[in-house]
Amino acid sequence: MNIVFNFRKQGSVRRKRIGIGAVLAAAALAVAGCSSSGAAGDGGVSVVASTNVWADVVEQVAGSLSGRTVHVTSFIDDPAADPHSYEANVRNQLTIKRADLVIENGGGYDDFMTTMRKASGTKATVLDAVQLAGVKKIDGELNEHVWYDFPSVRKIADRIADVLAGKDAADAKTFHANARRFGDRLEQLMAAEESIKAAHAGTGVAITEPVPLYLLQACGLVNRTPAAFSEAVEEGNDVSARVLQQTTDLFSRHQVALLAYNAQTSGAETTAVRAVAETNHVPVVPVTETLPPGENYLSWMSGNVAAVQQALAKE
Ligand SMILES: [Zn+2]
Repeated sequence: MNIVFNFRKQGSVRRKRIGIGAVLAAAALAVAGCSSSGAAGDGGVSVVASTNVWADVVEQVAGSLSGRTVHVTSFIDDPAADPHSYEANVRNQLTIKRADLVIENGGGYDDFMTTMRKASGTKATVLDAVQLAGVKKIDGELNEHVWYDFPSVRKIADRIADVLAGKDAADAKTFHANARRFGDRLEQLMAAEESIKAAHAGTGVAITEPVPLYLLQACGLVNRTPAAFSEAVEEGNDVSARVLQQTTDLFSRHQVALLAYNAQTSGAETTAVRAVAETNHVPVVPVTETLPPGENYLSWMSGNVAAVQQALAKE
C-alpha cells in the first residue's frame, strides 16, 4: 500500500481557519459581477463535495454518466494535508454558487462549506452526510468520520441517487441501479466486518484519532486508547507525559492487537506511539481521512478491512 506520510509538526495552528473572513469578503466581490445562476449550462448536473471521498461516492452513483451528464468536483483531496485545517478560497465559493448539488460532511468537519454556501446564495440541493447518517454523540463526542461507517455510506449513496434522479429524470433508472450495486458491495464489506467480529469480538485496539473508529467498532473491536490522547491529537493539542505513558503502556503490556494510525495527520506524539507499537511488534494499520490517489471508495475500504483482518491474524 502506498501511503504518503506527513511528519509535519503539529501545533496550535492545526485547527485555526485563518483568514476565512477576508476570503469571503473577497469572494463576495468576485461573485457580485457574475450572472451565472444555479444550474449547469449544458443541462447536466454539477455536483460539488467538500472531500474527494464524497465525490467518489457520487461517481459510483453516476457510473458511466460521470463526466457526461454528471460533473463532480471536490475541494479536499491532498493526501499530505490535514483536512481539518483546509483553507477555503474564492474559487471554492464560485463552484458552490454554480452547483446543483452540494455535499458537505457536516459534524464540524467542513464548516467552511456552510459559510460559503450561505454567502454564495446558491440554489443547490444540500446534503449533510453526518445528518443523513443520523449518528449520535457518545460521551459528548460526535465522531464525524461517518465515511468509515458502511451502513451510513449506503444511506447517503441512496439519497444522492434520489437527488440526481430528481435533477436528471431521464437517467433516474441508471442512478438507482448504480446505487443499488454500490450498496451490494457495501454489504460485502459489512459481511467482512461481521466475520472479523465473529473471530475477534472484544479484542482491544488503539487509535491515534477516531478516524476509522466506526469500522473498528463494526468489527467488534474495543478502543482502549485513553480518550485524553486521541482527543488531544485530534485537536492538535499537546499530550501530557502521563497520558503518553498510559498510551504507550498499551503496547508494552500487549493490551491491544493493533494500532490504527492516521497517516494524514501525524505529529511528534503519534510518531512516538507508532515507534513503541513497532518495538513491541504490535501491527500498525495506516488509515487516511481522504481517498488516496489511484483508489476508489470501494477499493480503499476493502483495503482497510483487509488490513485490519491481517493485523488481527497475527494476534
Ligand atoms: Zn479527522
